[in-house]
Amino acid sequence: MSEDCIFCKIASGAIPVKIIYEDEHLVAFPDINPVAPVHVLVIPRKHLGSIAEAGPADAAMLGHVMLSLPKIAAQLGIADAGFRVVMNTGKDGGQSVQHLHWHILGGRFMEWPPG
Ligand code: 5GP
Ligand code: ZN
Repeated sequence: MSEDCIFCKIASGAIPVKIIYEDEHLVAFPDINPVAPVHVLVIPRKHLGSIAEAGPADAAMLGHVMLSLPKIAAQLGIADAGFRVVMNTGKDGGQSVQHLHWHILGGRFMEWPPG
């Protein structure tokens, strides 16, 4: 846990959120500023600043997250229509919270390329 990290506080329960799904590795909850009809954040319980900080010891956790994303999308009712997973990384990637996270976006058609 990183003391100043808002997502660590959410993962630990110090800041309450509506939990969409959680297990030993991850927590999923609605984005506070949704940009699509369905917009959920998935965060690892472990603090990593971004995917650029992940190492071999994180491989099992990362695989678990990847396999959980479509299950969470199914729980949200957007798996059949389709959805987008976004992992903003670093300054040019548009990352604003420095705790690794995935956006699950759905409920409308996602344009490409993104802005
Ligand atoms: P990023 O821009 O780093 O990829 O995404 C960070 C996301 O976290 C943004 O979409 C932002 O709306 C969301 N966010 C920031 N602070 C909070 C918070 O306190 N609670 C929730 N639920 N979402 C947050
Ligand atoms: Zn953190």
